[in-house]
Amino acid sequence: NLAEKLQDTFDKLRGKGKLSESDVKSALKEVKMALLEADVNYKVVKRFVNKIEERAVGKEVMDSLTPAQQVIKIVNEEMQNLMGGSQEEINISPDPPTIIMMVGLQGSGKTTSAGKLARMLSNKGKNPLLVAADVYRPAAIRQLQVLGERLDLPVFSMGEDSDPVDIAKGSINFASTHNCDTIILDTAGRLHIDQEMMEELEGIKGAVDPDEILLVVDAMTGQDAVNVAQNFDKRLDIDGILLTKMDGDARGGAALSIKEITGKPIKFAGTGEKLADLEPFHPDRMASRILGMGDVLGLIEKAEKSIDKEKAKALEEKIRKNEFTLEDFMEQMSQVRNMGPMDELLGMIPGMGGAKQLKNLQVDDKQLDHIEAIISSMTPEERRKPDIINGSRRKRIAQGSGTKIQDVNRLLKQFRQTKKMMKKLNSGNLKKGGMNLPF
Ligand code: GDP
Ligand code: MG
Repeated sequence: NLAEKLQDTFDKLRGKGKLSESDVKSALKEVKMALLEADVNYKVVKRFVNKIEERAVGKEVMDSLTPAQQVIKIVNEEMQNLMGGSQEEINISPDPPTIIMMVGLQGSGKTTSAGKLARMLSNKGKNPLLVAADVYRPAAIRQLQVLGERLDLPVFSMGEDSDPVDIAKGSINFASTHNCDTIILDTAGRLHIDQEMMEELEGIKGAVDPDEILLVVDAMTGQDAVNVAQNFDKRLDIDGILLTKMDGDARGGAALSIKEITGKPIKFAGTGEKLADLEPFHPDRMASRILGMGDVLGLIEKAEKSIDKEKAKALEEKIRKNEFTLEDFMEQMSQVRNMGPMDELLGMIPGMGGAKQLKNLQVDDKQLDHIEAIISSMTPEERRKPDIINGSRRKRIAQGSGTKIQDVNRLLKQFRQTKKMMKKLNSGNLKKGGMNLPF
């Protein structure tokens, strides 16, 4: 993938010490190829690489003590600029309700994202109203109603025989009588850009004058996503982009091209099918992630959201007193798992983006399943005093958990090592509130 290729290129550069102009040029050629393969628009790639070359081939960089670092820093900065520089918020009306209009092709993720956005705004203390303005598929109205029920948020609909413009207008009255300060319009898409859809969307826009027209595009479609964005922007003058399916093996093309081509910022990224899977889009963090430099801030945010603070504190106390047991080990593991799939998390840790490192670590979700099964098959006493687990106990635990004796042995060894490591940390300074990954 893109991150791996770029990392390989940078590793080579780092290995060189002093850089010549041709070293930098050949590295940039590799960067260029990697970007093109990731389906980044070729004009964008050309401009991007030229800009980096202009900055990198100067005396200042080549004569510096760490020329490779300097080049990487420039790539990082330019990549961040490419995606818009800083994070952009949605427009909020000074005079509520704020009207957000979701537009996009069918299947891009409009309805799902409307729900995710409503959830995010509601968590921030807003009172959103979801509006079913896609009347072409009866299932679409039902889909939004189900989301509304799950979120415990109101949904406005007028059935499938109504005109989307009337629905949009009607929702404003409904919002004011129900104290809703934000209206999220879920509109109809088509499989391809077509005249009828655009006219309908223009009609809604003209009738309610939305504060934010948010275009929803599927990151998996690469450069097509960029073309779609250009077309929508021409007709509707969109305000921002919500890029969905960033959890898939999208090659990065859409994220890296769309701002440069349309001039409109990516404001959100959808990262899964669940309602919680929406993140504000941070160009700086995204650039670091693409360059395999990790996303430490993102990781901390995820941890803060999913780790129970009370439990973390209790755990810290136990570690300090050297009372950490296998039960705690399992508890901690399940908390880490709450944060999301392992490979995604490791990808956020600097230097762990490459699949090579992941394979060496071998902490896949399946292995975590094993560990949980093994610990569940132990008696409470065994969990607290693993030293008593002799040969016959090992056999029993392996059978009970459907694993092999070697798996049990490996886990016990891992646990001993973790405890040892914790002891060392203890004698040093255990950072307050710090995370303790059990591997
Ligand atoms: P719409 O036709 O634009 O309203 O699209 P939907 O909201 O119905 O979504 C189409 C499909 O994409 C559904 O199966 C969603 O679960 C899925 N989807 C939407 N956003 C994401 C995302 O960020 N990640 C993943 N993996 N799937 C998504
Ligand atoms: Mg829909």
